[in-house]
Amino acid sequence: MPLLKIYTYPEKVLSQKAEKIQNIDGALQSLIDNMIHTMYEAPGIGLAANQVGVLKRIFVVDISSKEQSYPLLVLLNPEIVFCDNPEDSEEGCLSLPGCTVKVKRPMDIVVRGVDREGKPTEITASGLLSRAIQHEMDHLDGIVLFDRVSSIKREFLRKRYLKKMNQKD
Ligand SMILES: [Zn+2]
Repeated sequence: MPLLKIYTYPEKVLSQKAEKIQNIDGALQSLIDNMIHTMYEAPGIGLAANQVGVLKRIFVVDISSKEQSYPLLVLLNPEIVFCDNPEDSEEGCLSLPGCTVKVKRPMDIVVRGVDREGKPTEITASGLLSRAIQHEMDHLDGIVLFDRVSSIKREFLRKRYLKKMNQKD
């Protein structure tokens, strides 16, 4: 199964809004399989289609760790219908290697969407799962972690990140 290229900031696709999925076809199923494979190989706990250069509203999440396993979540056209209990925590992102950003997000959410078979699904999530889902949904709206902080902090984080990325090349 091919590993997909993970796009990193500041590549344009990460700041673009993904489009609603109308057709669930074979090409989409392959994309989903490849996204799952790429997420596990990275390794990461979530991956949105924008991160592999595809502007479609789909993400995959699996917050399993060595200590505990959770089900893999594949969600298309997600929408948050309830949120509560905001909390600050550090987040990382496969598209921002070597960088963590403190973000405040509601820790209890209900999200609706459709699964990979096209069946309507509603998920109640809390804690890390809630955070991971919202992080991936941000990607679908063209939002990266840097957009979630004040403009002063954003400039600082952005400059530090770009400097580090340039040193790597
Ligand atoms: Zn991310």
